[in-house]
Amino acid sequence: MNLKLSFHPEFCQDILCHSDTARRCGLDNRCPPELLGNLSRLSALLGEIQQSLNIRSGALKINSGFRAEALNAQVGGVPNSQHCWGLAADVVCPEFGPPCDLAMAIAQLPCEFDQLILEFGKWVHVSIAPLDQTPRRECLSIFSKNEGYLEGIVKR
Ligand SMILES: [Zn+2]
Repeated sequence: MNLKLSFHPEFCQDILCHSDTARRCGLDNRCPPELLGNLSRLSALLGEIQQSLNIRSGALKINSGFRAEALNAQVGGVPNSQHCWGLAADVVCPEFGPPCDLAMAIAQLPCEFDQLILEFGKWVHVSIAPLDQTPRRECLSIFSKNEGYLEGIVKR
């Protein structure tokens, strides 16, 4: 099967798989072919968010996209994280505003995200649902592991 997957030019495979930590630790963080379909849909969602919020080209930064298991363990990600399935990206956009404002703005968009999580006030985790599941549009915040997840995007 020769399936041609499309990627938003700014959220291409290289950008979504790039990791300074993986590079530093010599970890292979290429996305396996069977997960590229997810990564392509994630790319489209990020493009939609950028366009809908009128974010300038190049201003929406991906802190972490796809994570192979080894990288996920290295960065202390939750086991079986959506990042490991090519379904999630952690983003920031200093030009737009602090992560809390970015998360609140994304929450208002009609786009089909699965989870939107304001994490430690520092970045926004946005994910898509697996193909066979309905996007939940779930909004959560977490400030500390002790306190755990809170309902909604919480400003602190
Ligand atoms: Zn994340």
